[in-house]
Amino acid sequence: MAFDDLRSYLDALQHEGQLLHVDEEVAPEPDLGAAANAASRLGDTAPALYFDDVKGFTNARVALNTHGSWRNHAIAMGLPANTSTREQVDEFIRRWEQFPVAPQRRADPPFAENVRDGDDVDLFDVLPLFRLNEGDGGFYVDKAAVVSRDPDDPDNFDKQNVGIYRMQVKGNRELGLQPVPMHDIALHLNKAEQRGEDLPVAIAIGNDPITSVVAGTPLGYDQSEYEMAGALRGEPAPIATGPLTGFDVPWGCEVLLEGVIESRKRELEGPFGEFTGHYSGGRSMPVIRVDRISYRTNPVFESLYLGMPWTEVDYLIGPATCVPLYQQLRAEFPEVRAVNAMYTHGLLAIVSTAKRYGGFARSVGLRTMTTPHGLGYCKMVIVVDEDVDPFNLPNMSVVELDPGSQPPGITNKLVIDATTPVSPDDRGRYGMPVSDLPESGAWLDKLRSMLQQQ
Ligand code: MG
Repeated sequence: MAFDDLRSYLDALQHEGQLLHVDEEVAPEPDLGAAANAASRLGDTAPALYFDDVKGFTNARVALNTHGSWRNHAIAMGLPANTSTREQVDEFIRRWEQFPVAPQRRADPPFAENVRDGDDVDLFDVLPLFRLNEGDGGFYVDKAAVVSRDPDDPDNFDKQNVGIYRMQVKGNRELGLQPVPMHDIALHLNKAEQRGEDLPVAIAIGNDPITSVVAGTPLGYDQSEYEMAGALRGEPAPIATGPLTGFDVPWGCEVLLEGVIESRKRELEGPFGEFTGHYSGGRSMPVIRVDRISYRTNPVFESLYLGMPWTEVDYLIGPATCVPLYQQLRAEFPEVRAVNAMYTHGLLAIVSTAKRYGGFARSVGLRTMTTPHGLGYCKMVIVVDEDVDPFNLPNMSVVELDPGSQPPGITNKLVIDATTPVSPDDRGRYGMPVSDLPESGAWLDKLRSMLQQQ
């Protein structure tokens, strides 16, 4: 059974013992960020967290770590909670094969219960905002599905994009947005700015768990996230029409912001603690003007904790990074057997493949780096033989001080031979018989002649 909204997913997590309801009063900072940080240190069985008594807010509801363990990820996929990581990746691959599954348009979305327009929009009034990490430059909305359309082809459903991008709250109705240049929204924004137009956006906060997974999945440019959500859910994804933009939005979202990315406007955004385990620094980034906010009564604000890996983001995008790389490689190289790009969002990818001919594995490695995700992320690709399981990592020794070791003292190692290749030395090969030298015949005659003259 697929979940149509965040609330039914939270109920399922609670039913499975995977939701901790913190009913004591907490401070928005540092309690909420610290609690989410702590949850990600509980390992593969960590629960989601739910708060409904946040000091300074009336009726605030905050959900954290909802995808933040393999158990939660399995429940999100509708699998038994104890499904192993590898089985979850394999099931993700099987469901992907059902793509595309057309979405189901529904009327009366719950977010239509409350509406504010124009200058009545006040993000601070509707969202219980808090900083996640102490070095963050402000409040962030970092687990929302951002919907945009191709300005040159606005009626093309497949080119409509749904993605998760970090957004800094900068005013009552203003957000900063970081569109990574390799991501679809950056292409949409670039086209809009070439035309001298603003880019309309719809931002859905607090979604069913599969919407969050597909919004974090690097699909092809004209692959619809909603049609992939249907494949992963095993039934059509429910969508509704955004009242201001007319865009297709997740039917079950808690809050819907609609507005525009203002053309050619840039402001300082950041710093923000990122998936790399480091702060991003502050840079000049586009700005969103929010013109309308729609929300369920007492909306649940969902936020994603990021910090030193592993944290919730690594579970959310683990299989969601491995599987598209696997499928995109298989389209051209059916010899590919498995892809593990689960660590630090695929900055390192391990690909297992059979080989057609000499040099084949290197071509597979290069293609990995030019997939939609690889362009922005895959810095290192390790290609292994078809009989090697890339999910079964070698455990090698390292000093316990290495912060990358897990558990302390155990790590994976990499040797890169970047020396200039030297042509093979063909003298003295094992298969080469030692035959008489060409000149030996003349010498034989000479030596015989010398012996006769003695
Ligand atoms: Mg897309």
